[in-house]
Amino acid sequence: MDAPPQDSISPFAPDADAPPAAFVARCSFCDLGEGEVARLFQGRAGYICDECIDVCLALLADYRELGLPPHDMQRPWYQRWFGEQTAVACGFAPHDAENPQGERLFSGGRVQICEQCVSACAALKTDA
Ligand SMILES: [Zn+2]
Ligand SMILES: [Zn+2]
Repeated sequence: MDAPPQDSISPFAPDADAPPAAFVARCSFCDLGEGEVARLFQGRAGYICDECIDVCLALLADYRELGLPPHDMQRPWYQRWFGEQTAVACGFAPHDAENPQGERLFSGGRVQICEQCVSACAALKTDA
């Protein structure tokens, strides 16, 4: 069972200003790099590894169980928390204007990933 090359497994189209080839891809959430994690999924603004996807899935399950609604990311408090340099929106795939952040959002500090993109990566993960 040969694994596909790392760069062919992302569900997201790479950005025009994607990092150069010499760049070592690192998970934007736990900071582990290629070779230290089983898989890295590339988004528009960063990467997430398979382990961080698992963490997000576990949190999502908890949120559902507790009946917690998604955060309103447009509130000033969140914008201050995430920093003004960072767009308060999913950094992995474009989402429509109705739901710019793509449902629930998990912050990796520099990059956020939404529930929809977590699910897209999880689907790929279980395909392997
Ligand atoms: Zn990670
Ligand atoms: Zn997303």
